[in-house]
Amino acid sequence: LQQGTGLKYSVHVEVRLYERATKRFETIRAHVEHWIQTFDRINLNSTLTGWDVIPDLAEAVDRIIVAEAACPQQSPSLSELIINVHVYQPTDSESFDEFTNTGKDDEDETSAATVCELPNTRWEGLWESLIYADDIKLKLLDYIHATLVLSDANVDFNLVTWNRVVLLHGPPGTGKTSLCRALAQKLSIRLSHRYTSARLLEINAHSLFSKWFSESGKLVQQLFSNITEMADEEETFIVVLIDEVESLTAARAGAMSGTEPSDGLRVVNALLTQLDKLKHRKNVLIMSTSNLVQAIDSAFVDRADIIQYVDLPSREAIYEILRSSLSEIINKKLISQVTIPTLQAARMYERAPAAPLGILGTHQKSHAVGQALMALAAQCRTNGMSGRALRRLPVLALARYVGVATLAGDGRVDVDAWIAGMDRVVK
Ligand code: ADP
Repeated sequence: LQQGTGLKYSVHVEVRLYERATKRFETIRAHVEHWIQTFDRINLNSTLTGWDVIPDLAEAVDRIIVAEAACPQQSPSLSELIINVHVYQPTDSESFDEFTNTGKDDEDETSAATVCELPNTRWEGLWESLIYADDIKLKLLDYIHATLVLSDANVDFNLVTWNRVVLLHGPPGTGKTSLCRALAQKLSIRLSHRYTSARLLEINAHSLFSKWFSESGKLVQQLFSNITEMADEEETFIVVLIDEVESLTAARAGAMSGTEPSDGLRVVNALLTQLDKLKHRKNVLIMSTSNLVQAIDSAFVDRADIIQYVDLPSREAIYEILRSSLSEIINKKLISQVTIPTLQAARMYERAPAAPLGILGTHQKSHAVGQALMALAAQCRTNGMSGRALRRLPVLALARYVGVATLAGDGRVDVDAWIAGMDRVVK
């Protein structure tokens, strides 16, 4: 963003309030803005401390973080930044079923979608837990945020077209659904000054399609007319997540080639028509995921403004995923205390000679753990393991090789045993 003569970077500061805090958001925001002005520099992607000396903040604030940002420096000076403070209070309300099929002649009710309020405590920490190469998370977030701001500014649709449809595709288990939820949560926080409430509506295309297949497109229409009704409340921001979208659109191809009944065609056509209607709603964002992009109807793909391929994790991303899993187990005191090196450090150790075996000092131990984990990450990469498979790895290692019984004693296992167990699972 250009301001005056210098180029400034936008940085988002997220202030999470306690669930029962009753302070006004405006008051909190003013305090935080004022407090941050006392800083010289600010660390991106960090948790801020020291705010609890201000009584109003101490009473209501749970956490303050500085989000990652597309800024070349890790610790820019305040004068280079435009600080956006977002105050939010996640709700712990459960998601509820919505759009239940209550046809008179239909005894068992089937639900087509679930709805949850945003920001929600369920999705806290999800964003941080997802690890990708090339900053795709941040790029997606910034891009979607920018387009939402643009359309909110009433930019002429004929000149700048934006359908508010995002499609993430890639192999199963690469975190696409989770990424959509995490993006929805982040957007609801970033847009909280603009919308008084936000909702995430999840539609599983696969179950919608299989359950309601015989009902043709009528029910899709009903579903979308409910969404439209929701969107009539202009103060509510709505994210619609359509999971496994290929199952809906594949049907159309099937119908055209005569292998599927024409009901399928009707469902898909209804969906596409409804999507076109929603695109004029400024407060609606549609996100979809697919495991097979080839199988998606080209008419749907054409409607997506952002089509992002989500790949299997790289060796570096695998290292980070495994490191965060193991660190969590160490924090919960099931593994003896050891520092697992950061990716940067582990890369350096890779080039250094192997740490000597035997009784090791804490630094050498950490060095050796980094090397072992890096080797394991390389092995996982060769096997083409997904993020989902990786998050399961420590559990399988415990069940099969470490042995739950070993935890029963003093409750701590050596990290080497755990890594060796994971290595055996992979092999
Ligand atoms: P998909 O929709 O692509 O099949 P999911 O969103 O269902 O994948 O992912 C399942 C789980 O796998 C996630 O909740 C997360 O724990 C883990 N996971 C997948 N990809 C990653 C990743 N890149 N980084 C961290 N965890 C991941």
